[in-house]
Amino acid sequence: MNAPLPKAVQASVNRRLSLAARYFGRTVVAIGAHPDDLELAVGGTLARFAQHGAHVVMAIVSIPSEFDTRRAEAQRAAAILGCELKILADDGCSRIDDIKTYQLVGMLDELVRSLEPAAVLTHSANEFHRDHVAVHNACVSTQRLRPFDFLHFNPTMTRAVPVAFHPRAYVDITETIDLKMQAIEAHASQFASRGLDSDMWRDLARLQGRMVGVKYAEGIDISRMLFA
Ligand SMILES: [Zn+2]
Repeated sequence: MNAPLPKAVQASVNRRLSLAARYFGRTVVAIGAHPDDLELAVGGTLARFAQHGAHVVMAIVSIPSEFDTRRAEAQRAAAILGCELKILADDGCSRIDDIKTYQLVGMLDELVRSLEPAAVLTHSANEFHRDHVAVHNACVSTQRLRPFDFLHFNPTMTRAVPVAFHPRAYVDITETIDLKMQAIEAHASQFASRGLDSDMWRDLARLQGRMVGVKYAEGIDISRMLFA
């Protein structure tokens, strides 16, 4: 974080033009229900934030299966993206369904209190996976603690499922798409080991890039953001 920034990045920071530059020297917390959710939805964005001098924490609520394998995969993926990994239910396999709502809110409150983030990224309300919706709802509650930017990301899945999500903002990830794909591939237990490929995530980034005239982008939705 203290190393000199590459020239092009420094220029961007100075101009304060990019979303990544907004979080220079600040903490961003991305909260996903499971390992791989964050890489799939916003891996390129998180890598970009980290490259621009943000302290980026990838918080995973629970690991539902193959605890050691999936924790190791998540650690590898976070390292690829230049982010810090935190697993909230870190004492073995657990399901979000088994955590009471007030406990889930308490876990996320604690995260927000301790990290004092400038931005929180999490699942949107439009998800087909109940765990993702539960995490979204708990994050909505944490907004009362601090005035952070509150952003939502694309629904995540390993096999394509049609879910309505309409991004209202896009992050150019042309420079970090390869890191995103490497981070996704680090989750071999979810893709390679099951004979699945992760191409749809490159395809989606390409499609979302076309929406805004860049090669690759990740779409996000904005619940709350302060403009100075
Ligand atoms: Zn998930």
